[in-house]
Amino acid sequence: MATRAVKRVVLTGANQPLELWERPVPAPDPGGVIVRVSIAGVCGTDVHLWRGDLPLPNPIVLGHEGIGTIEELGSKAITDYAGVPIRLGDRVYWQPVRQCHHCYYCTVAKDFSLCDNAMEGLFRHANEPPSGCYAEYSWLPEGMAFYRIPDDTPSEAIIAFGCAMPTILQGIERLGGIALNQAVVVQGCGPVGLAATFLARLSGAREVIVIGAPPARLEMARRLGATTTIDLTKTSEADRLEQIRDLTDGHGPEVVIEAAGHLSAFPEGVKLVAKNGRYLVVGLWSAPGTVPFEPRYINNNNIRIVGTALGQPSHLYGAIQVARAHHRDFPLAEAVTHRYGLGEAQKALDSVARLETIKAVIIPSS
Ligand SMILES: [Zn+2]
Ligand SMILES: [Zn+2]
Repeated sequence: MATRAVKRVVLTGANQPLELWERPVPAPDPGGVIVRVSIAGVCGTDVHLWRGDLPLPNPIVLGHEGIGTIEELGSKAITDYAGVPIRLGDRVYWQPVRQCHHCYYCTVAKDFSLCDNAMEGLFRHANEPPSGCYAEYSWLPEGMAFYRIPDDTPSEAIIAFGCAMPTILQGIERLGGIALNQAVVVQGCGPVGLAATFLARLSGAREVIVIGAPPARLEMARRLGATTTIDLTKTSEADRLEQIRDLTDGHGPEVVIEAAGHLSAFPEGVKLVAKNGRYLVVGLWSAPGTVPFEPRYINNNNIRIVGTALGQPSHLYGAIQVARAHHRDFPLAEAVTHRYGLGEAQKALDSVARLETIKAVIIPSS
């Protein structure tokens, strides 16, 4: 197969205007595939990368939440990574990271989300074939997990929660699950907070209380299962503590999930969680810094604090299954509120940065 010229959105450095590059892409690896990108989620992490909050080794192609159709198959690419046979034109969902199966975390600790080498696909030089999805086509090497999307599952119901759903699926797994009739507080109502809200509801929580802003996101939280929403901008920390104590018979929530992405959420969460409760910290990935808090709460109240980063291929697969099972009964796809073309990627990042969106996507063919 001949090489093809592929347009891609490139981040060259912190706070630099995004550029549209066109570079050739070779035929796929024998075990790889080339995917025509149909929809790419715009993630808060893309904004952090653009602002320089995370180190950038190269000019890179942005986008790590991609759905597309298989355009070319390598000679040995026969199934997806769950063993499902694949053909040209099949719709797939992938993560542009690749576990190496050759590092301490892959083979000894067995936590693929911490693989030392997984980021190679995401941070590959933008001249190279892109595995990122702010591009017309993505080039997935052998070993980069992708899954066929069943025909009955709309792409938007999956991409609305992008990397947030796999991330929170891993987080709740690491937390040890949410039990029936527990009370849950979710701090934050961006895609990670909304995914957490939805999974808490599916888990059978008796109360799902969401703290956040702006109102459109809180409204979506209610539609996804929040029993109470609290506007962060109209309440003090003391107000929220009192209201949440009232809603939980004075005990506080058995589970608190930090998905706020703001350091101040952490000391508040430690105070909110019930005695013998659990606190999942998922949103502080790109929030470096320190914050004062009182460790005695952890000690005296028998609290468990669990951290979680990213997700594994099993959680990406799980995210497809969540959308497949529930897209008819919940407005998952309606969380996609803003759509942009490839040449409008900067506008997309700006609107996400201003919290105007619930979820923005890039549609390369538009
Ligand atoms: Zn590894
Ligand atoms: Zn993401």
